[in-house]
Amino acid sequence: MTFARNPAAYERLRHVSPDSRETQIAHIHHSLAATQWWSADRLRQLQNLRLTRLIGLAQRHVPFYAGKLEGLIDAIDGSVIPAAWATLPLLTKAQIRSDGARLRSQNLPSDTRLFATKTSGSTGVPLELVQTAEFWDNFYATKLRLLTWHSVDLRHKTIEILPPRGAPRADPVRRLPAGESPFNAIFDSGPYLRVSIFTAIEWQLELLVREAPQYLLTQPSNLRLLLRELRRSGRRIPSLRLVRTQAGQLDPDLRTECREVLGVPLVDVYGATEAGYIAFQCPKYDHYHVQSELNLVEVLGDDGRPCQPGQTGRIVVTPLFANVMPLFRYDLGDYAEVGPPCDCGRGLPVLRRIFGRQTELLTLPSGEKRFSTFGSRIFTKIPSVAQFQIAKAPRPPPPPPRPPGAWARPGRRRRGPPSFRFPPPAPPPLRHRIKYWQTLRRGRCCLLS
Ligand SMILES: [Zn+2]
Repeated sequence: MTFARNPAAYERLRHVSPDSRETQIAHIHHSLAATQWWSADRLRQLQNLRLTRLIGLAQRHVPFYAGKLEGLIDAIDGSVIPAAWATLPLLTKAQIRSDGARLRSQNLPSDTRLFATKTSGSTGVPLELVQTAEFWDNFYATKLRLLTWHSVDLRHKTIEILPPRGAPRADPVRRLPAGESPFNAIFDSGPYLRVSIFTAIEWQLELLVREAPQYLLTQPSNLRLLLRELRRSGRRIPSLRLVRTQAGQLDPDLRTECREVLGVPLVDVYGATEAGYIAFQCPKYDHYHVQSELNLVEVLGDDGRPCQPGQTGRIVVTPLFANVMPLFRYDLGDYAEVGPPCDCGRGLPVLRRIFGRQTELLTLPSGEKRFSTFGSRIFTKIPSVAQFQIAKAPRPPPPPPRPPGAWARPGRRRRGPPSFRFPPPAPPPLRHRIKYWQTLRRGRCCLLS
C-alpha cells in the first residue's frame, strides 16, 4: 500500500484539488519517503530549521514564552545553540493545564484552520490542546509512513479495539464503510470497525472470529487478555495478518505470545495526542524509529544530559508543527532506552525500548526506582490460575540516618561511600507473598494483567 506500488492512488490525486487535504498529505508522505534515508546529521539540520521557525513564532506571539526563549538562536548562522537549548526548563503537563490559554498564539492568520483536542487523560486529568491543519496533515502523512513500512493493505478489514472516541454511544461497535479517513479518498479501502475496549474479552473474541479481520489494532493490555482467552478457548482468527498496538507499555514477551497464539507479527507504536507519532517500529526490527520530521525527541538522564545507546532516560518531546500552541521540551512522563543506529539504513534515531509512565515504576524498599515489566508466562504456565493481580505492599519506613562520621572506625582511615562498582550491584531480593482467590476484583490493587 504505497503510492509507488499503487498507480491508481496517483490517478485519484489528479482529480482532487491541489489545495485539498489529501494532496497535502500525499506531498508530505512523498517527502517522508525521502527523508527517512537521510543521515542523522542531515535530519538534525531539518529539525533545526523547523525548530528555529517555531521559536520565532513563540517569541513573537505566545505570552507564556515571552522572555523565556532569549539566546537560543545563534545570531550568525540562525541555528539553535545546543548548550542554550539544554538549559531551557522542561515543560510539564501541570503547566499546560494551568497556563493553557497563555500557551496559545495570539496572532493567527484568519484562514488558519484550528482543531481543539483533548488528551485521553491516561494519568487522570485530560489536557485541552489546539492544533492546526498543518499539524494533522503531518500526522496523517506519518501514519501513511507507518502503514507503508509494515505493508498494510487498506483494502482489507480492520478492527480497532480502543477507548471510544467522541460522545458515548449505546452500540459498542461502529462500522465505517471504508478505511481510515482521509486515506479512503486516495486508496481503495476496506471496512473498518471501531469497537469499545470496555467490552468483555469473550465478546471481543467472538466478534473477531465472526468478522474475520485482516488487521487488529488495540492496546497491549487488551491484547494480552485476548491472547489468554484465545489460549483458553482454543479458538483462532486465521484471517489475521498483523496486530498493531498503541497507548500502553509493551512487554517484549507479548510479541512472542502474539506470534505463538495468533501466528502474526505485532507492530507497536508510541505517540501522544500532544505530539502525534513519536516513534514506531522499524520494518526490519522490533525497536522503534523516532519520527524526527514531526518531533524533536530528547532522552535525558537524571543529570539532564542526553542518554547514549544502552542508557535509559525520560522522554522529552518538542512537536515541530505545534505552531498555535508550542510545547518546548515537554516532559511526557515516559522513559526509553536509546539504541544504536539501525542497519536498515534509516537515519532516524532508535529507541530500543519504551517504558511506561513514572507511576509504573517499581519502588524498591531502599527507595530506588526500577522499571517494571511483569512477564505473563510465570502464571500462565499454571493451569489453575485464570488471572492474576500484583499489588504493591506499603513502603516500609526508611532506615534512620547514619550519624556524621559513621564511615570511619577509630584508628582506621576514613573511607567514603563507593561511587562506582562494576559489575553493578545485584538488585536486592524482593519480599513477596502469594494469595489465592476464587475471583479477582478490579480497582484497589494495581491490575497488571
Ligand atoms: Zn531500522
